[in-house]
Amino acid sequence: MPLLGLGSGVILQYRLLGSTGLMVSNLCFGVLTIGPLQANLSIAEGAAVVEYALGKGVNFLDTAECYGTYQYIRKALDSQRYKPVIVSKSYAYTAQGMKDSVERALDEMELPVIDVFMLHEQESEKTLEGHREALEFLVQAKTRGYIKAIGISTHSIAGVMAGADHPLVEVIHPLINCAGIGIMDGTPQSMAAAIQYARLREKGIYAMKALAGGNLIGQAYEAFAYVRDIPGLASVAVGMQSLDEVDLNLTWFAGKRDENLEQRVAKSPRRLLIEEWCEGCGSCVEACRYQALELHNGRVIVDQSRCALCGYCSAYCPQFCVKVV
Ligand code: SF4
Ligand code: SF4
Repeated sequence: MPLLGLGSGVILQYRLLGSTGLMVSNLCFGVLTIGPLQANLSIAEGAAVVEYALGKGVNFLDTAECYGTYQYIRKALDSQRYKPVIVSKSYAYTAQGMKDSVERALDEMELPVIDVFMLHEQESEKTLEGHREALEFLVQAKTRGYIKAIGISTHSIAGVMAGADHPLVEVIHPLINCAGIGIMDGTPQSMAAAIQYARLREKGIYAMKALAGGNLIGQAYEAFAYVRDIPGLASVAVGMQSLDEVDLNLTWFAGKRDENLEQRVAKSPRRLLIEEWCEGCGSCVEACRYQALELHNGRVIVDQSRCALCGYCSAYCPQFCVKVV
């Protein structure tokens, strides 16, 4: 297995992403966290965090059209001699919609080609069928050299199984964490089994939400170790928003600890984020022992002054709306 020493004793591994021919670091930078939906760093600040990670050997960036982070990546790439492997995604389901999405990604990141383009959040064989037109456009885009591989992201075991059995899907980006938070239809064990099934069909697989949207931050080392060691995964996408977080994730991915770094990162200010797709079902409100949540105009809102960031409420949300950022 190829290895890269980073001087500080931290070592990343590089693995083939299924049959795509792309070689990726086992730590992938999930760019969502630096952008407007989460930390909302300036373009210069966010790009600097990405550049720092690339300089440390991370060669794999995960983004999506809806994250609003293309400008950060474009700026980070200015200083790079070698282009990292870049994945983007779109919710488009028509051919025209997907064409617009691919063109926007190419334009805004100023790239001649995107390594992997995905259908965002596929739940099952049925949703894949519902996106047939968009998928057919991705096949054309691949034939014309605008993308190198086609993939799907998914929060469900049924989505992984559908991708595994689909001849056009080459890369799968599933949600898995040791607590099973956010998996729509089963346990971490059954998701890990689906990942194995997909890997045996030569799909390239990299995981998301190892910390369950920040809810496992208090046990991050163990949570990362769980996902890092799942057989069949080429990489794990992790959101990072500071240079210290990059260093800490690199340390953890090497199976090491650094108490000073852990303490510094633990002191970074955090908040509870309720995603805009909250349906106002109220399950999380009842689950909070600190009375930090209430329903307002059909959505839940957080009183940050009461919230202890325990993450307990997130397990009650069927929509995976609750994140610690
Ligand atoms: S994270 Fe904990 S304290 Fe904060 S709203 Fe959720 S359950 Fe309540
Ligand atoms: S459980 Fe999720 S969908 Fe329901 S109110 Fe809470 S955040 Fe919204």
